[in-house]
Amino acid sequence: MQFETAALHGGQKVEQETLSRAVPIHRTTAYLFKSTEHAANLFSLKELGNIYTRLGNPTQSILEERMALLEGGAASLALSSGTSAIFYSIINICQAGDEVVAANNLYGGTYSQFNSILPQFGIKVIFVDPTNPENFSNAITEKTRALYCETIGNPGLTMTDIEAVGKIAKDNNLPLIVDATFTPPCLFRPLEHGADIVIHSLTKWIGGHGTSIGGIVTDGGSFDWTDPKFTLFNEPDLSYHGLRYAHDLGEMNPIAFALRMRLVPLRNLGACIAPDNCWAFLQGMETLSLRMERHSLNGLAVAEYLANHDAVEWVNYPGLPGSANFETASRYLKNGFGGMVTFGIKGGLESGKNFIESLKLFSHVANVGDAKSLAIHPASTTHSQLSADQLQESGITDSMIRLSVGIEHIDDIVEDLLQALAG
Ligand SMILES: *Cc1c(COP(=O)(O)O)cnc(C)c1O
Repeated sequence: MQFETAALHGGQKVEQETLSRAVPIHRTTAYLFKSTEHAANLFSLKELGNIYTRLGNPTQSILEERMALLEGGAASLALSSGTSAIFYSIINICQAGDEVVAANNLYGGTYSQFNSILPQFGIKVIFVDPTNPENFSNAITEKTRALYCETIGNPGLTMTDIEAVGKIAKDNNLPLIVDATFTPPCLFRPLEHGADIVIHSLTKWIGGHGTSIGGIVTDGGSFDWTDPKFTLFNEPDLSYHGLRYAHDLGEMNPIAFALRMRLVPLRNLGACIAPDNCWAFLQGMETLSLRMERHSLNGLAVAEYLANHDAVEWVNYPGLPGSANFETASRYLKNGFGGMVTFGIKGGLESGKNFIESLKLFSHVANVGDAKSLAIHPASTTHSQLSADQLQESGITDSMIRLSVGIEHIDDIVEDLLQALAG
């Protein structure tokens, strides 16, 4: 199936009892066991099936299978948020004493998680400037267990050279984890370029309508976890019948990462996704490629308008010729560059605030990826917890405005920007 077709049909087998065309929402906590033997088989993984919705749900399974298809992966696991998807991906690999080398231009919430929460568990994150992939290489030690980056960093909008970082990961027998939220799989599929694990905040473009929070992790299925340095995959898990995830899963060994994430972090920490939200995300997936086409067309048009406006100091859009990142982005993004645009407004902080307050069509919210156009001033909001040094590292200035360009008619979008710039 091609992408557009899989986005509509992937993972769904029409239920033979109900013949429901749309994906049904299974709002249930638990599932009947056919017999005590059936129950025992499910618990011992001899048979896969539904037990309890914290571990999985039929609506969720369709979302996961569809995502794995769209991403070109082996298995996916949906979680309650992008944030929990990131946390579980790290603790599925790392324990106290381990290190992660991560890009320094991450989503603000991820930066805080890595910088202040992971150290509480003894996991150290070393941040490097991803614009030179060699920086990852130089920061690797014998304690490193994963490399981590975003496809397009937020809000600096720098495109990471995923193939170069992927090669460094491979040379060091480390998994590369990529948060690809800003580039849904119709624009870019990191697994085809050297990533091993891909994360999306479903909350953004995949859901696409600003209605639900969720996250998903896709396991490429090709990483070999048998290197003993991956203790969690090689030592017997006493909480799970002494299972060694890298060795004892039989034909499911290629999806050891995804399976362990369900059996250990999800089962025991519980950030499960609601069936209703799975349904909303499936609905979003159906139109994902259509929406991304329009987001990308509108994003480029807005970038071009702003680049020619007197009140604008600079514009950053990965698809704008002349943007610092145009070359790398063009190499990877063949179907459009998405809807994220940042720009610097002349007059700094005061003009930035005035601009935000003058917008009428754009909504002033801390979100991206809605079908509706959104705007924010990062320095005073999403990234306000960062120090001056961290702000500079993340590429944020006082005059920066971040736009998530929606799918409204471009004339209305441009008219709103022009009147707010004049205001
Ligand atoms: C929003 C976002 C997250 C966090 O996802 P939530 O669903 O809000 O928890 C992580 N990474 C990126 C790039 C995001 O945009």
